[in-house]
Amino acid sequence: MSHVTRYLKSLLLLELFQGLGLTMGYLFKPKYTMRYPMEHIPKSNRFRGLHALRRYPNGEERCIACKLCEAVCPALAITIDSAPRVSDGQRRTTRYDIDLFKCIYCGFCEESCPVDSIVETHIHEYHFEHRGENIVNKTQLLAIGDRFENDIAAARAQDAAFR
Ligand code: SF4
Ligand code: SF4
Repeated sequence: MSHVTRYLKSLLLLELFQGLGLTMGYLFKPKYTMRYPMEHIPKSNRFRGLHALRRYPNGEERCIACKLCEAVCPALAITIDSAPRVSDGQRRTTRYDIDLFKCIYCGFCEESCPVDSIVETHIHEYHFEHRGENIVNKTQLLAIGDRFENDIAAARAQDAAFR
């Protein structure tokens, strides 16, 4: 580009008007901006958010304390203790903690679980207000599972053909 051409473009503000033309072109097109948190983009059924422990329809917890999820977790975020259940001698977890500060939401825990017990839900809006709340325990995880079981089951059903 010659010096004269560049000078004329600068003098006549051609690039400014080109930019304004582009802006005007988008003024009447559909908007892409979501008004979060009033609006949400659709999530994949494989979205990996807050964890939950699931139960069978009869209320029995699914987890059999095999510790595969604890072993596979690359962030060492899961801590499990287990013992035979007093009532029937079945092995069950006595402690199931996930440190959400360590978790990298890789999904390895849910992939490794043989009984579909530990899962990652669609929940991504949560926060902590006190030190230590980043560690969610078994009671909390089961409560999340109970509350969102319908969503979790629907997401698993959609993905069943690929498992
Ligand atoms: S999602 Fe990954 S990092 Fe988080 S607890 Fe599961 S295995 Fe560990
Ligand atoms: S959540 Fe699944 S993988 Fe982890 S200990 Fe329980 S049964 Fe095993």
